[in-house]
Amino acid sequence: MKSGFQRISLGDIKPCGWIKEQMQKDLNGFVGHLDRLAPDLFIKDKIYGKDRLTRNIRSKSVGNLQGQDEWSRQYLWWNSESQSNWLDGYMRHAFLLNNKIHLARIKKQIGYFLSTQDKDGYIGIYAPNLRYHFTGENGELWSKTTLYRALAGYYEATKNKKVLQAMIRAVKNVMKKYPAPASSPFSFNKPYAGVSHGLMLTDVLNELYRFTGDKTYTEYAAFLFSDYNREDVSEKDVQLKNILNKKYKLAGHGVHTYEHLRSLASAYFTTGNSQLKKALSVYLKRIESATTATGGPIGDEWILGRKANGTNTGYEYCSIHELMDSYLFLLQKTGNLQFADKAEKIFFNAAQGSRNPVHSSIAYLKTDNSYEMCGTKNGLKEKIKKQTRYKYSPVHQDVAVCCVPNAGRITPYFIQNMWMKDDEGLIACLFGPNESAINFKGKNIFIRETTSYPFDFTINFEIEVEHPVEFTLKIRKPGWSKAVTADISFKEEKRFIVIHKKWKGKETFQITFTPALKVNRTHDREVYFSYGPLVLALPIEAEEIITKKYNIPEFYDTHYRPISLKHYRYRKGKIKKEKGRLEFRAELFNTRSRKTEHVILVPVGKTILRQVTFKT
Ligand SMILES: [Zn+2]
Repeated sequence: MKSGFQRISLGDIKPCGWIKEQMQKDLNGFVGHLDRLAPDLFIKDKIYGKDRLTRNIRSKSVGNLQGQDEWSRQYLWWNSESQSNWLDGYMRHAFLLNNKIHLARIKKQIGYFLSTQDKDGYIGIYAPNLRYHFTGENGELWSKTTLYRALAGYYEATKNKKVLQAMIRAVKNVMKKYPAPASSPFSFNKPYAGVSHGLMLTDVLNELYRFTGDKTYTEYAAFLFSDYNREDVSEKDVQLKNILNKKYKLAGHGVHTYEHLRSLASAYFTTGNSQLKKALSVYLKRIESATTATGGPIGDEWILGRKANGTNTGYEYCSIHELMDSYLFLLQKTGNLQFADKAEKIFFNAAQGSRNPVHSSIAYLKTDNSYEMCGTKNGLKEKIKKQTRYKYSPVHQDVAVCCVPNAGRITPYFIQNMWMKDDEGLIACLFGPNESAINFKGKNIFIRETTSYPFDFTINFEIEVEHPVEFTLKIRKPGWSKAVTADISFKEEKRFIVIHKKWKGKETFQITFTPALKVNRTHDREVYFSYGPLVLALPIEAEEIITKKYNIPEFYDTHYRPISLKHYRYRKGKIKKEKGRLEFRAELFNTRSRKTEHVILVPVGKTILRQVTFKT
């Protein structure tokens, strides 16, 4: 199998410039305050400790205001996901911004979680009489996955061996209780979302393999995948019999479908099985056709056989994060740069475009064409009772507190994958301002990347070494780049700009990519515009309505209603970049006045209401 790249440890790549400012804003905002914005879920419920679930607990407050229904059994584990995914993003923010106050809080929290470990290694949410003995839906593996991912990040950043030892003991406890191949960890009566999420223990197992080099972990992940394939689970998109069935269409809960991509890929990279290889390629194509112009994959919340559409298919913030993370996993495992292009597209467009540009809040659900954000999809009446997902909130407690924690994870995950390395040297995979200290074969290499990418396409690299060291620096040439210029001699090899030399002291050079201003087609033949990695949007002026205030100042839920809604079509009009500004003058056809008008397009990440795709 083609060997890929190696990941760099959390904390070795630090954000600078705009991306650091945004993270700072998030840490001062929803990332640093989520526990206090929803204290019942985050502070009061010690679900991994004294409040572990027992046989007698039938219902639980998880902040979901829609009340009890037939799903209530799956709500029992919800707080573990909310708490752990939040901790994961919060902890990564604190390390990347080196914030001492938050780091002290996190150290205490990690200490608390380690203190809940039982003698046999168990860290989880179930009392002894219940754990590993379920008849139906449960969150055994999922509650572990979300917490252990945070422990993995904490270990990477601190190199605290106690944390790694605790993780290893906890995972060995799973492997003992659900032994491979003799047990069936996905065999339950009517399992639901929690069981299906549990397949993502894959993430933890891959991290442990990365830390220890012990293949037992990735082999266990392949076992989990094969057992998942055999069972009657709730989420079936990733099952081989469905992938290899030409007529099958993606139908599942979006988040599951996109995170399961990592489990399928991991099973293939571990076993080299040719059927898995074929399945991976089919699955990637199916996901591509469920993806909108901005990179947002259908997740509103079930895919239901649909193809992506700018107005009608929404994406959940969780699904944005999970698909980006899956592409980054594939980038690392294969070294194939198309996955870096895809990850940048999601991060700079769908993800940025689902954040509130002013307040510290995000949209739970968003569409590329966003004509109203007052709870329902573009103001349409929906079957879902009391639909509230299409709004901006720092919590979204009226639905589920899943998206806000994942909005805290996405930026650190993007940053950690900006650089990777291989046996020859370092690889600049994703761009953006950063400062990094990467150990290559025992030598420290310091890098400063100064740029306002993706808002500008000139990148200044500063490389500093303590002693002269020979290595290859590879820089990804983005798929959209028409040309590249540099003031250092380089070779172009496939999609890489390759600089091989003996580096001495501090050296600087500059690289500039030439972006194309492109007219693209969506899967359903609508037009959208892009400039380099940025998808463009026509902003729609909106009235802001504050619908909820929190006990902490400056936090709000907000709705947006268009002031005057017009729809445009594209009839081969001209489009041109304004000089010195990231604005684009376009000729579009106003369907109401039936006249061609000059309008200004901007990057979608800077908008709330907007039109991104245009019928012709
Ligand atoms: Zn979510």
